[in-house]
Amino acid sequence: MVVTHFRYDGICPPGIVAAFSLKSFWLDRQYLESMQFRREFVHSLGFDHNPVATAGQIHSSKVLAVDRGGYYAGADGIATNRPGLFLAVVTADCLPVFMWDMHAGCIALIHAGWRGSDAQIVKQGIALMVAQYGSIAQDIGALLGPSICAGCYEVGLEVAEKFEAGDSAKGSNGHFYLDLRAANRRQLLESGILPENIATDPLCTRCRSDILCSYRAEGAHVGRLVAALGIKE
Ligand SMILES: [Zn+2]
Repeated sequence: MVVTHFRYDGICPPGIVAAFSLKSFWLDRQYLESMQFRREFVHSLGFDHNPVATAGQIHSSKVLAVDRGGYYAGADGIATNRPGLFLAVVTADCLPVFMWDMHAGCIALIHAGWRGSDAQIVKQGIALMVAQYGSIAQDIGALLGPSICAGCYEVGLEVAEKFEAGDSAKGSNGHFYLDLRAANRRQLLESGILPENIATDPLCTRCRSDILCSYRAEGAHVGRLVAALGIKE
């Protein structure tokens, strides 16, 4: 049987489902941006009848609280406290950030490329969990999902300059490289998330473009990977 996704059951609390699709899932369907693609991924995890809420992903810092399935166009992150409602975003090199708070009973799923990271979208997600659901930062757990690694993500000086020194590096070739994981991890810590509550999947979408979809490796016709996050009913 073809493996189509990772489940992060050992990293998340038992009440949470977090999963990330592999290229094999996309090759099977090629629905790309459609809502159906994201829904089918959640259903393929065994949650056949569960509603799915997804963000339109415009490289913003907007995170929305939702309580029903649907396509939320003007956002890059979504949050809920409704058990059984799955959140989904798609990526191909950008960083998916899964967050949960089992005390407050809420989750948030963020799509963070360089623009969203520059706009500190994970901080917006945490602020929303606090304001909307009564989370406190020390109770929030976070998982940085597969994304392009620092060694693969060359950016212009004008992008590197937007970030803190530790988030980007100048290579021996004089070019600049951005570490999306470092930038988002720093922002999580600045928001009060405890270091022991942050996990990272070290897989790079570009280094492993054999099993993952990478815009940098494959260009405009690249597929998409689905990140999905839900509270078990
Ligand atoms: Zn890489």
